[in-house]
Amino acid sequence: MELVGASVLTHEALGAGYHRLVLAAPEVALQCRPGQFVHVRVSEDRYPLLRRPFSVARRGDGTITLLYRVVGKGTALLAGLRPGGCLDLLGPLGSGFELLPGRRAVLVAGGAGIAPLLFLAQLAWETGHPVRAVVGAAQAAELVGTADLGELGVPAAYATDDGSLGHHGPVTDLLEGSLAGEALYACGPPAMLRKVQTLAREQAVPGQLSLEASMACGVGACRGCACRAHGGYRMVCTDGPVFDLEEVVLDG
Ligand SMILES: Cc1cc2nc3c(=O)[nH]c(=O)nc-3n(C[C@H](O)[C@H](O)[C@H](O)COP(=O)(O)OP(=O)(O)OC[C@H]3O[C@@H](n4cnc5c(N)ncnc54)[C@H](O)[C@@H]3O)c2cc1C
Repeated sequence: MELVGASVLTHEALGAGYHRLVLAAPEVALQCRPGQFVHVRVSEDRYPLLRRPFSVARRGDGTITLLYRVVGKGTALLAGLRPGGCLDLLGPLGSGFELLPGRRAVLVAGGAGIAPLLFLAQLAWETGHPVRAVVGAAQAAELVGTADLGELGVPAAYATDDGSLGHHGPVTDLLEGSLAGEALYACGPPAMLRKVQTLAREQAVPGQLSLEASMACGVGACRGCACRAHGGYRMVCTDGPVFDLEEVVLDG
């Protein structure tokens, strides 16, 4: 884990508040694994004081890509960053996904949850690991990363809440049927993760999920991002954000 100054190579608005930010960050690119994140200082001013966490969505030759959605002050400030600008990053942080040998990986993404799963798709492509994806969003305009999945040759099925593209309903509907010989890798809203956990249990298939929690320090010191797990609490920033599907207790 390092504190690095990354320069902005490209920064593209994708629509529906999503942005794709490509950064020159050779040290991070060299070390990062799918599921890990960088903790970003979004402003040189005092506010917002806390860094904001973003998953590495793709890795290139000395570069990393972030795929993020504007939801508040920090991400709005980030969206104003221009090519040539510089960003203060801490990372790579946290645990990563592990592709389980002998099982086809099924990537289950909801909304911005596609970000870490694109990097996992890239690793599967690089290592020849079999993979497919199911991706959901509220509406067609919010389905991002589809071009990446196409480029990586990942067969993908889509779902939208309003039926504007693909299946009309929750993305987890696309997991109906046998999951034998597969492993689930999920990132998205809590309700989606709970359903993935239930399906995995019912069919006795393994899997991992990436949790998103508001966090402050990102390195396990402040203990602000604790999540419930069997046998106690875990820190999303250092024990996660990737956990075994069976390890965490998803409330609600
Ligand atoms: C490990 C990790 C990886 C992440 N990767 C990505 C990514 O690749 N792309 C992406 O778009 N987002 C990602 N997020 C979420 C991202 O960090 C938040 O959206 C961001 O910090 C919001 O900052 P803000 O200042 O714009 O919003 P704030 O002003 O802080 O909050 C605005 C609204 O967003 C909610 N919010 C803030 N942080 C989170 C969070 N972590 N999870 C859920 N809701 C939140 C707040 O409750 C509030 O309603 C990740 C979060 C974590 C923990």
